[in-house]
Amino acid sequence: MKTIQLREGKERSLQRRHPWVFSGSVAKGGGDAGETVRVVGHDGGFLAWGAFSPASSIRVRAWSFDAAQRIDAAFFLQRLQRAIALRSRMGIASDGQRLVHGEADGLPGLVVDRYGDVLTLQFGSAGTERWRDTIADALLQATGLHRLYERSDASVRALEGLPERTGWLRGEGDGDGDGEGEGEGDTAITITEHGWQLGLDVALGHKTGYYLDQRDNRHHFARLVRQLGCRTVLNCYSYTGGFSVAALAGGAQQVTSVDSSAPALAQARDNLRRNGHDDAAHAFVDADVNAYLRQCLQDSRQFDAIVLDPPKFAPTAAHAERAARAYKDINRLALKLLAPGGLLLTFSCSGGVSADLFHKIVAGAGIDAGVNAAILQRLEGAPDHPTTLEFPEGEYLKGLALLRC
Ligand code: SAH
Repeated sequence: MKTIQLREGKERSLQRRHPWVFSGSVAKGGGDAGETVRVVGHDGGFLAWGAFSPASSIRVRAWSFDAAQRIDAAFFLQRLQRAIALRSRMGIASDGQRLVHGEADGLPGLVVDRYGDVLTLQFGSAGTERWRDTIADALLQATGLHRLYERSDASVRALEGLPERTGWLRGEGDGDGDGEGEGEGDTAITITEHGWQLGLDVALGHKTGYYLDQRDNRHHFARLVRQLGCRTVLNCYSYTGGFSVAALAGGAQQVTSVDSSAPALAQARDNLRRNGHDDAAHAFVDADVNAYLRQCLQDSRQFDAIVLDPPKFAPTAAHAERAARAYKDINRLALKLLAPGGLLLTFSCSGGVSADLFHKIVAGAGIDAGVNAAILQRLEGAPDHPTTLEFPEGEYLKGLALLRC
């Protein structure tokens, strides 16, 4: 077993059970990509078992802080079972669930989502890549499912020196594993979220197919639309129309979904129909949101409720300043477009923008817009994307529900 020794004074992070060792903390030692290494302090004392990643600035991701732990198939099965058991106690109102959320579940770099009876996996670190087959088999054992689709196409793989890889890893799509019946449609799945039917595609969709992290905020939005009697709704960055389905379920009369992805809008149209909504109640706009909001202002339009759920503008804190300007701009425009008494749900999924900073950015947007608003609620990601006490970096999605005064 290879040993990685840390520089003096760099032990504290692992001692506090934070799973990352940055390259600058390593005094000596190395290993192959994904190899299990023993990490010791400057004094030689055991700190953690981890996976070595020669290409990444996160040089080691810790598997375990227990010196007696063996990192083997039984270890992965036990961690997966623990993550799944946690979800079963969370009261998740959907058969689309995040079963494993990386570091928060003691499996750094691994994301597993379940959509009905199909599992999707993302191997986002050298360590998870090395244990790919072991993890796949353990996951089938832990869930009792058969179909497993790999979506290892997230940009983080490049930082780990790993190529993109997508495709069926187990089960071939038709459920019986014999390879027959595999066709174009077999990656299309329907989930039931808070009673709504939502279609998605695990091969073609964003991330692993759907934005599961917004599940409870979509449901909450439906309740607010009803409570406030919102009739006209603008859903910006709509993707496949999750918030639009929610708005119509909440009694909205006219909903507009804006996104720059034509396939996402096609799926949104399908999702509205599946839930029994008349096409006349809905408009789909394939456009850049910023440009569309400016156009709406020019046309003096107003909306009773607006959702702003943009993509990640700031992956890390280094991008925060430019991202802040982009967030401020769309929030300023949206606040101006709100009818008096209107509702704005505004989000940031940027890890580099804290909840506190986001609040400040939106406050600045309100001042620039000349609009005052009350914070009805602070919003966060669904509980199956947990933030643990030991790994605050896991907190990425934050939002505000604002009522225009
Ligand atoms: N609210 C959605 C998730 C939004 S993800 C849900 O609940 O499922 C962000 C979306 O923004 C993606 O669908 C992406 O296609 C879209 N997007 C990214 N940049 C955009 C832009 N400049 N204008 C319009 N849409 C954009």
